[in-house]
Amino acid sequence: MAIKEVVKHPAAVLTEKCTEVTEINEEIITLLDDLYDTMVEYDGVGIAAPQINVPLRVAIVEIGEERDILEMINPTVLETDGAEVDIEGCLSFPNLFGEVERPTYVKIEACDREGRVYELEAGGFDARAILHEIDHLDGVLFNSKLIRVVTEEELAEMYGEEEE
Ligand SMILES: [Zn+2]
Repeated sequence: MAIKEVVKHPAAVLTEKCTEVTEINEEIITLLDDLYDTMVEYDGVGIAAPQINVPLRVAIVEIGEERDILEMINPTVLETDGAEVDIEGCLSFPNLFGEVERPTYVKIEACDREGRVYELEAGGFDARAILHEIDHLDGVLFNSKLIRVVTEEELAEMYGEEEE
């Protein structure tokens, strides 16, 4: 386990389609652990393998009230529904925040570290975070979907009041 350097935009590894994982071995388990350590260190809610310079279809995201860690190996989107605009950021874009439209519901299929295939349904910000990370695995970055950039002042106003 280790904290890795986060690859910042622009970088080729961030815009490539990542390769499917064919075998869940020690390398993949270590990758999952490194993703977790790196996400926690840099205070993200999700991170994808290409963001630590590994072009494989692996990503993690915090979901639910308890901020459980969802590990996704070879995730695919089975279904989406709805649409909502909300603010996103990305560890690969340290100073960029903005509004992105995403589905409000997603159903995915993915593999966990034990090699078990699972299906998961998520809504709201969880759905947003999951879809943001899966986009990374296809080399799609949130700046390409930005409707409007949100300034740091606006962010401070929005979140400053809630955190009293
Ligand atoms: Zn991101």
